[in-house]
Amino acid sequence: MKILLLGATGSIGTSACNCIRRFPEKFELVGLSSHKNAPKLMDLVREFGPTSVCFGAAAETSALRAAAPGKTRVFTGNQGLEDIVNETEFDVLLNALVGAVGLRPTVAALKRNKRVALANKESLVIGGEYITGLLENGMGRLAPVDSEHSAILQCMGGETVSDIESLILTASGGPFREVGPESFSSITPRQALNHPTWSMGQKITIDSATLINKGFEVIEAHYLFHIPYNKIRVLIHPQSIVHSMVEYHDGAVIAQMGVPDMELPIQLALSFPDRLPLQSKRLDLAAISTLTFYEPDFNRFPCLRLCLQAAKIGGTAPVVVNAANEIAVKLFLDGVIGYDRIHHILEEALDAYVPESVDGLETIERVDVTVRAHILKRFG
Ligand code: NDP
Ligand code: MG
Repeated sequence: MKILLLGATGSIGTSACNCIRRFPEKFELVGLSSHKNAPKLMDLVREFGPTSVCFGAAAETSALRAAAPGKTRVFTGNQGLEDIVNETEFDVLLNALVGAVGLRPTVAALKRNKRVALANKESLVIGGEYITGLLENGMGRLAPVDSEHSAILQCMGGETVSDIESLILTASGGPFREVGPESFSSITPRQALNHPTWSMGQKITIDSATLINKGFEVIEAHYLFHIPYNKIRVLIHPQSIVHSMVEYHDGAVIAQMGVPDMELPIQLALSFPDRLPLQSKRLDLAAISTLTFYEPDFNRFPCLRLCLQAAKIGGTAPVVVNAANEIAVKLFLDGVIGYDRIHHILEEALDAYVPESVDGLETIERVDVTVRAHILKRFG
């Protein structure tokens, strides 16, 4: 199976490379990308000898060309991310880009009728309606990489969607699950980056601290499994062992468990429906002994509340919340704003923009660009 891996130098990209290394007879890495990390990209190019590679900055591609085998095509910038999908011969796109920039490559792969193993949740958050339209017209397929959605897929087995009573997404609650809003202003980026159970890229780690990540995952689940929002619940589960659950009409609840390690859902998204062996740490329930669950407190997680509000409004409201969040997280990590400003920025953006219906990618991108500019002007 020929794999095109966008975002190869990130957290998911690195785990994906491990999966590909484990099964050289099954998986071939034919294309990869990074944004700024040239040394790591060059190491991967030397190791895997891909046919295509994409790098963020055009100015630095000459070294890449020198490191790449003669046959390798070099693409650059955001347009390059779309072109590499359109011009590379591959079977599965593993989209491990972070942010709204992931949408166009997802759409391009689906339009080529390819399978997309989707880690880039922002594709569905901002483009869920549009992507659903493509899938319903028979273009391509989506395989979830996010651990919660991989869990739900595994819990659904051969059951029919109409038998489902609810989806229950679990969330660790991040480092601040016991912290009230009165303490938000003193939270530093270093504290927010210290996630208790998962090791991930910076942006999703902050999103997991504010819990907007779980709001994004509710939107993802809605579009992936065709379940209405009122049937998708969130539960805090600090141990991150139950990755999500499906409740059926007869009261049966099926859960998927495992140690918190993204290599399982990544590997499964590549091999699905087959399972391949994985010699990772095994789940030892006797050693863990206690699993706990409770409802999220929206006062502690206002970003989750705002994201769910935007999800239910629909149209471009999730685009607004996503764009505002991407900028707010960057400003927080850069030390420009405090942690307590993040949810205010989302609230202000949602108040300022009247949601529009999504009639195409251009609408999504216009709103995305406008909101980013607005937030940067106000707070940057
Ligand atoms: P990282 O920040 O670790 O990696 C992001 C990757 O995308 C890197 O290869 C980076 O390149 C590249 N990239 C960043 N910005 C741009 C840009 N503007 N244009 C092109 N490429 C860019 O992110 P993660 O691996 O943590 O997450 C990737 C996606 O998967 C996100 O959508 C996240 O929400 C989702 N996800 C992640 C999980 C995890 O465990 N990490 C779990 C579930 C979902 P460079 O290194 O050169 O900067
Ligand atoms: Mg997740």
